[in-house]
Amino acid sequence: MQNDEYDCIIIGAGTAGIAAAVELSKAGKRVLILESKNYTGGRARSFEDTVTGEIIDNGQHVLMGCYSSLLSIFKELATDNLLIRQNTLTVNFIDSDGKKDILKTSTLPGKAGVILGILNLKQISLKSKFCALELALRIQIGNVKTENLTTQDFLKKYRQSKEIIERFWEPIILATLNSSSNQASASLFVEVLKRAFFAGKDASQILIPSVGLSELFTPFPEWILRHGGKIHLGTSVEALEIRNGQIAGVLSSKGEKFEAKTIISALPPKQLLRILPKELQSHPKFTPLHVYQFSPIVSIYLWFDLAWCDIDFAAMLGTTIQWIFNRRKIAPSSNTSVEKFPGHISLTVSAGNILVDTHPEEVVKLCLEELKRAFPKASDAKLISWKVIKEKSATFLATPAMELLRLQAQTFIPNLFLAGDWTSTSLPATLEGAAQSGIVAARHAISVLNKEK
Ligand SMILES: Cc1cc2nc3c(=O)[nH]c(=O)nc-3n(C[C@H](O)[C@H](O)[C@H](O)COP(=O)(O)OP(=O)(O)OC[C@H]3O[C@@H](n4cnc5c(N)ncnc54)[C@H](O)[C@@H]3O)c2cc1C
Repeated sequence: MQNDEYDCIIIGAGTAGIAAAVELSKAGKRVLILESKNYTGGRARSFEDTVTGEIIDNGQHVLMGCYSSLLSIFKELATDNLLIRQNTLTVNFIDSDGKKDILKTSTLPGKAGVILGILNLKQISLKSKFCALELALRIQIGNVKTENLTTQDFLKKYRQSKEIIERFWEPIILATLNSSSNQASASLFVEVLKRAFFAGKDASQILIPSVGLSELFTPFPEWILRHGGKIHLGTSVEALEIRNGQIAGVLSSKGEKFEAKTIISALPPKQLLRILPKELQSHPKFTPLHVYQFSPIVSIYLWFDLAWCDIDFAAMLGTTIQWIFNRRKIAPSSNTSVEKFPGHISLTVSAGNILVDTHPEEVVKLCLEELKRAFPKASDAKLISWKVIKEKSATFLATPAMELLRLQAQTFIPNLFLAGDWTSTSLPATLEGAAQSGIVAARHAISVLNKEK
């Protein structure tokens, strides 16, 4: 038995687990983290591409200024300086035929900037823009009903035109909820708009990592040691042991047993279900664990012999590709890489069901065709290397029905708490949702521990 008097065992060292560990440690509690992989960061990770030798992510991640819980963790780990922050929200839009538009919110300060930014969009009629602004205003004063509505029904209810849906709302829905508009929950969408887009200049700024995602979490194992805790990487938890209505300990795949006064599961729902004792797996309170559905994200990395792309990143409209990121502008690389592969871009397709079963070579072919239409300069470039990454369970499918079933951090077992982007955070599955969930679970654990004193 491995029992070094830990206050809390945290299972999983993704963003939620790390956030929980930081919160507990700062409250003076001793934490043990068990992580099945040999790295921290979970679904936000980077690795070396074997062909080009460049560091790439499992999918481009974009953060926003309103990610206050996550940013406080990066600050603690001293990696917040590895994020590039826009001065004000600026997003390029590129049509399938190359027509350009831009949402620029810098002309006026604060919310007025967003309003003027929307009014200045060139490819959308004035009537549609006024309808969008009316909806934005109603959202801000809390005068909208979202109950059980999908975003599609919600946008129709508030008389949004087809063009503003396709050219403005839909890209936001896909990027933030990773679910198509006919499935995504309207209440989550409204929450995102309130917290990110209509909450002032700082909240709406976009932040992009200038390094591989894993680097943002690299200092964590050392940090936790310095704060009296411990992390075991490559240690998968196989089972939770229940005794007298409490979780008595956890069993690892290596046959070790660990005990602590409180336990936080920072696992995705399926993995949590797998380690619950049989009698809890079928307990009505854990029924939602059986019904979570997932949505994929497909990421395509392309290397060219020419630097043909002159923007940082853009939303693409009317194409299978939804976002394009110019890696050479946003993530500095070694001179050798730049010499060998002057052009390097990544593409994102959220809720990418249509690409999941498509052969990677076909995916690349389709993307190249779309890029050449939208960016004529791309036709002059030769593709040297590519990689397609399909994250099939990237996030949970954020439907209105699922929104009602998301589990709270507190469970009916007094010393077991739940964290993870899928728990009841009122946010979509994001790094910020994961960080917030970890902090909430940690605070519940701290309160139990403090009562025991
Ligand atoms: C391709 C892609 C793009 C994304 N883009 C964005 C974006 O732009 N912006 C944004 O905010 N969010 C984005 N997300 C979502 C974001 O990555 C997730 O919301 C977040 O990483 C989830 O963190 P988590 O801690 O809840 O879960 P996870 O990161 O999944 O952490 C769970 C951890 O538990 C470990 N584990 C599993 N089973 C066991 C076990 N039995 N024992 C021990 N450990 C175990 C896992 O290895 C993992 O480390 C994206 C996700 C993907 C996949």
